[in-house]
Amino acid sequence: MTIVPVRDDLRALEGYHSPQVDVRVRLNTNESPVEPPAAFRDALAAELSRVQWHRYPDRGAHELREQIGALHGVAADQVFAANGSNEVLQTILLAFAGPGRTVATFEPTYQMHAHIARISGATVVETDRAADFTLDLEAALAAIAEHRPMVTFLCSPNNPTGLVEPAANVRAVLDAVPGLLVADEAYGQFADWSAEELLGEDVPLVITRTFSKTWSMAGARLGYLVGPRWLVAELDKVVLPYHLDTAKQIAGRIALRFVGEMEDRVDEIVRERKRIVEALGALPVDQVPSGANFVLFRPRAETGLSGRQVWQGLLDRSILIRDCSGWPRLTDWIRVTVGTHDENGEFLAALEEVLA
Ligand code: PMP
Repeated sequence: MTIVPVRDDLRALEGYHSPQVDVRVRLNTNESPVEPPAAFRDALAAELSRVQWHRYPDRGAHELREQIGALHGVAADQVFAANGSNEVLQTILLAFAGPGRTVATFEPTYQMHAHIARISGATVVETDRAADFTLDLEAALAAIAEHRPMVTFLCSPNNPTGLVEPAANVRAVLDAVPGLLVADEAYGQFADWSAEELLGEDVPLVITRTFSKTWSMAGARLGYLVGPRWLVAELDKVVLPYHLDTAKQIAGRIALRFVGEMEDRVDEIVRERKRIVEALGALPVDQVPSGANFVLFRPRAETGLSGRQVWQGLLDRSILIRDCSGWPRLTDWIRVTVGTHDENGEFLAALEEVLA
């Protein structure tokens, strides 16, 4: 029983759900299927043993930001880091959206963009993508011209479709927006193009990234953006003091010593993605071309099965993938995260069984 009324504008809001079920093969949240290197663990344990826990962390996370900056060839003051890229998105929206302002999304896309924007009090304008989930550029530009959004989101590769946004689209949207363009590149390392090359001090663009996927550190909750200095300075004012704890700052710094290992993991996942895509191509399913570490697919009508039934059939075999089939615009579509070689083999064998 609720005895204190929540804000009027939040009453109809639904939470963001991703069931955590105990299964043998977990391919539902786009995490890395493997742990970070043992040397990462050892170095982290050693540094953690020297932490002065009675002191607040470095409030500006200077070393971490410097090292993330070095990875991208920018300075520390062009980097904002937070507890997962979700908190990066939240901080952007607290600073640049909010009541009286409009946020634009192109659906289907990552649900948290619209969700956090609404929590900030902003008005969200959702524009449909084309039937094949590519950006309908004409509709996008028309929506931007009509609603004048202060924040516009493009997710590339897009979640849950996996589609990489062509550079021409990003440029066209960037030229049109009256406010900020956020390129959510949580899966950026899996794609062959990044909006990073468009960044500039006088360009209203940020790219957001995360340690949750390629860096095998979803448990640490660390994400960041790269963008103009003036924007990072505004975010620093809005975020809570000492939001990045000492352990996380250390974990992030140490992870960055293992760039080569991270890139090897990305290569392996891309190889495994190709394997899944090829195998799906031989089954009675439609799929969306993926530039990420997941593939969105749906059973064809000839199978007589709904997406939900296929998802349940896999779950009955202790394989959990993401059921997107009940989401708006995604009837019957389900999404599998690329796992280890063995996990993918189990998934494909089970899927063949379910579809038979
Ligand atoms: N953006 C996208 C597109 C995502 O898919 C996710 C994770 N599901 C995030 C951001 C947030 O990731 P995290 O908060 O773990 O960095």
